[in-house]
Amino acid sequence: MSHTIAVKAEARGAKSILAWLQGSDPELSEQALAARTDGQLLDLSAPLPEVERLEILTFEDEAGREVLRHTASHIMAQAVQSLYPDTRLAIGPAIEGGFYYDFDTSATFGPEDLEKIEAAMADIVAKDLPLERRELSREEAIEFFQKRGDTYKVELLEDLPEGKVSIYSQGDFVDLCRGPHLPSTGRVKAYRLLNTAGAYWRGDERNAMLQRIYGTAFPSQEQLDEYLRLREEAEKRDHRRLGRELDLFSLPEQLGGGLALWHPKGALMRYLMEEFWRKEHLKRGYELVFSPHIARAHLWETSGHLSFYRDGMYGPMMIDEEEYRIKPMNCPFHVLIYKSQVRSYRDLPIRYAELGTVYRYERSGVLHGMLRVRGFTQDDGHVICTPDQIGDEVKGVLDFALFLMRAFGYEDLEIALSVRGEADHEKYMGSDEDWKIAEASLKDALESRSLEYKREPGEAVFYGPKIDIKLRDEMGRLWQGPTIQFDFNLTSRFDMEYVAADGQRHTPLMVHRALFGSLERFFGGYVEHTGGAFPVWLSPVQVRVLPIADRHHEYAQKVAAELKRAGVRVEVDDRKATTGAKIRDGETQKLPYLLIVGDREQEADTVSVRQRGEGDQGARPLGEFLEHLKPELEPPSSEA
Ligand SMILES: [Zn+2]
Ligand SMILES: [Zn+2]
Repeated sequence: MSHTIAVKAEARGAKSILAWLQGSDPELSEQALAARTDGQLLDLSAPLPEVERLEILTFEDEAGREVLRHTASHIMAQAVQSLYPDTRLAIGPAIEGGFYYDFDTSATFGPEDLEKIEAAMADIVAKDLPLERRELSREEAIEFFQKRGDTYKVELLEDLPEGKVSIYSQGDFVDLCRGPHLPSTGRVKAYRLLNTAGAYWRGDERNAMLQRIYGTAFPSQEQLDEYLRLREEAEKRDHRRLGRELDLFSLPEQLGGGLALWHPKGALMRYLMEEFWRKEHLKRGYELVFSPHIARAHLWETSGHLSFYRDGMYGPMMIDEEEYRIKPMNCPFHVLIYKSQVRSYRDLPIRYAELGTVYRYERSGVLHGMLRVRGFTQDDGHVICTPDQIGDEVKGVLDFALFLMRAFGYEDLEIALSVRGEADHEKYMGSDEDWKIAEASLKDALESRSLEYKREPGEAVFYGPKIDIKLRDEMGRLWQGPTIQFDFNLTSRFDMEYVAADGQRHTPLMVHRALFGSLERFFGGYVEHTGGAFPVWLSPVQVRVLPIADRHHEYAQKVAAELKRAGVRVEVDDRKATTGAKIRDGETQKLPYLLIVGDREQEADTVSVRQRGEGDQGARPLGEFLEHLKPELEPPSSEA
């Protein structure tokens, strides 16, 4: 939350916002990072503007965090230039969780360099250098950076329109920058450089490869330490690493960029997720459909994909002398199913759902494990209904989305409602009436479920308003989750109709919704969220029996057979190894239950239970263990 402070008349003439704040609210002045008025960000070192009220931003505000971290990125760049004088600066923005800067330099940054750079940053912070803002005309700035040999800055400036630009300096360091920044380097209290990566200038593979250094900054050492702890945990849980260790999937180079193979254990989990998904859809009145992977280019012209999504599509390929394309989305197919007969208002609502595999072009630089791939399966669905029905339909989709995410252990959600901007209505498809109905239904659904959300004017896509649900994982990171999206474009492009009670033909409303989004991305994120410790119902192996010695193998097999009959996925570890080693292996594999059987268990017809995360639970009869296990074998139920 930002703080809005009244500016008293007698404060006018304070030499800076910071000086005024130190007089009026010393505590807040310590936390303050920037100010804002009328949506415009200001340096704390700027003169106090003639306003009645001023918004003060702290680390709680996204814009405040960015100011702190962007200032840290300038300090890092200054340190790099002082240590490696041939370095030219590219760009250095704040990003979610931290900042980076891209450098063109003859040095190759390794871990020791990062330490050296951090030490040089400490000197700059200790000197508490003021950051000074200066405005120049674009021409003056070009000349200025040309003289310094800062060719990247010159290139950036050449792309800007005529007018004023600002530069920020601290000591002998100067950067082209919109700002704002902290008043002095001493206000950056806790920072850490994290890693390096190669990055192309302007993200284009044809350009020079630069070296990027990532870092982060926080207002206090404690906050930084907590962040680093979660980050280390996230690294341990990296889905690419766990995917390999647990043998769930791979993305071999030989196969091609961004293409995944689901190995048997991962494929079993996907099968279980899909079964759960299908059953829940049928329960909620959806009809399941299938569609092919390719379609005539003509279809994609009708849908508009070939004009607004051409770069994301593969193909063309020629079949019977006609052009075909690989599908990037499933929607047009569902529209054709709808249009296969004349629909009456009595047929509505219609809800189609499909696990449809689509292919989209992504640049090789952005591919990332299962999270960013080129071929993936979308859990696509379309609700087609009348304006009277839309309120209940949107609520139904929202409830479904929340249920599904909670079933996978995502409780902490961030919801955004994206709508049109105030004065740019001509950019959008659909009538004002359509937009009003659509937005009201989304808003009502959120409010009827007492959900907090952020309304984001101007963030809607051109064909309709939408709800985006983001998931916060165990490490505090946000992931893209379900979307509920109106589409006034396809309904009109395909002339979708229904015959209303008045006997007239009307255009129905259509909502796209994806809950998992992409199965690949959701699965990758879920692996990290759980750290591979999947709930029993999803675990590829639910129970492993560990015989202590050879003479217990037969009893172990008997136990396993009985569990198998009860529908448990069980295996026996009859390798020649110590029980300690077998337990360690079972724990590394994150198996929910290990059953240890030796002389005592064999004699008493029991099993010694080790539960994941809980440790040794002692010996008990197998039947009792099964009773305890049974409720965990089923996926969460929406009837509960
Ligand atoms: Zn900057
Ligand atoms: Zn769709």
